[in-house]
Amino acid sequence: MTINIIDGKNTAKKIRENLEKEISLLKKQPKLVVILIGNNSASEIYVKNKEKYANEVGIISEVIKLPNTTTENKVLSIIKKLNKNKKVNGILVQLPLPKQINEFNVINAISPDKDVDGFTIYNKGLLSLDKPNLVPCTPLGIIELLKQYKVKIEGKKAVVIGRSNIVGKPMAQLLLKENATVTICHSKTKNLKDITNTADILISAVGKPNLITKNHIKENAIVIDVAMNRDTKNNRWIGDVKFDEVSKKAKLITPVPGGVGPMTIAMLLQNTLKAYKNQKNKK
Ligand code: NAP
Repeated sequence: MTINIIDGKNTAKKIRENLEKEISLLKKQPKLVVILIGNNSASEIYVKNKEKYANEVGIISEVIKLPNTTTENKVLSIIKKLNKNKKVNGILVQLPLPKQINEFNVINAISPDKDVDGFTIYNKGLLSLDKPNLVPCTPLGIIELLKQYKVKIEGKKAVVIGRSNIVGKPMAQLLLKENATVTICHSKTKNLKDITNTADILISAVGKPNLITKNHIKENAIVIDVAMNRDTKNNRWIGDVKFDEVSKKAKLITPVPGGVGPMTIAMLLQNTLKAYKNQKNKK
């Protein structure tokens, strides 16, 4: 890897090693339950990876697999039981959900104490009030990457492309908390290039291959590519950023794969340990 590439894979590995050490000293192993509904192949891969790395660091992982036809009430009743189960420290519902299930209802049925994705109203509210507890894993992982690579955030101009509840918005909030000056762009933004060219730190979370070219960034910008787009023709994952040309101009850049993705899982494991500790301290 060349010097300006942010190695998310290795950074995530170091975080997992530290988590493993910490978890090995606990009296009881933390437990994470993942609910997977339907047979979305990407979701199946994500859940398999979450399970693999949870086991590796000493987190007990259980996957509840439900058919595509599962009703919302069925999911809600499973979550209710998991909320009450003292042996379960973290609950995650893998998105997207089949269309008969309301995502908002299901996510907000999870006890905020066990909401390791940080998607419930409660945890999102805490983040908005600058009192983050369980924070969405992808933006949390990006802040961690920037810190590991000693990127100064305070006072910098950060541009986030994407305003989803799981990536764009919490990303902007975390950058603001780190004292960056933040601009959020979305599909209705006019003159995207003019805005991205002002960014010291550019974060693209869109899902459109080749959206960001060398003309979108200023010299020596920090470029974080969140997107995971399947390039079926070449059977590989690609991001939003034209990596070959942008990497020549950027000071630091994340690759896809091997950038943000591994950090998301590492943060999920970190959040599970945090939930475990919070629950212990509450007793
Ligand atoms: P999403 O909910 O589809 O949001 C995409 C955002 O991009 C929306 O806010 C949309 O604007 C905006 N957008 C669409 N076209 C645009 C354009 N031409 N110019 C500027 N903005 C545009 O997606 P998401 O869940 O946030 O995920 C974004 C990407 O990150 C996806 O590729 C996903 O696979 C990836 N992802 C990766 C990880 C990881 O761990 N690496 C985790 C989560 C997501 P509007 O709001 O106006 O529609």
